[in-house]
Amino acid sequence: MGPGNHCLFCGIAKKEIPSTILYEDSELVAFNDVSPKAPVHVLIIPKKHMDDHLELHEQDCALMGKAHLLANRLAKDLKIDRDGFRLVVNCRQRGGQTVNHLHMHVMGGRDFHWPPG
Ligand code: AMP
Ligand code: ZN
Repeated sequence: MGPGNHCLFCGIAKKEIPSTILYEDSELVAFNDVSPKAPVHVLIIPKKHMDDHLELHEQDCALMGKAHLLANRLAKDLKIDRDGFRLVVNCRQRGGQTVNHLHMHVMGGRDFHWPPG
């Protein structure tokens, strides 16, 4: 996706599109999924646009480490840490990705099954 193209999650990061933001810093934003599939369903995105997980490179290691630490912090704040939770990154068509801006799902408040559907 080129810089001129519309991206839903870039719009959320720039606050051009409304969302319920739970956390924000210079690199990351966390907001509630608009169509939650669990009692807790938060999305963590890098502010920097990346289409999907395959666009991660060596220089993004610290960024993604911070995203994982943020998932832990949100899990504690939202009280899904004790019972456990699920982190999901869907990648491309067969992974079920529908928004082409890299994001991590933080889901909790119910049981999750394995293998996933
Ligand atoms: P994925 O299928 O992994 O690409 O996940 C995309 C997620 O974005 C889905 O869970 C959608 O419910 C969610 N979503 C789509 N539009 C919005 C929006 N405007 N605000 C918050 N979440 C959204
Ligand atoms: Zn984007």
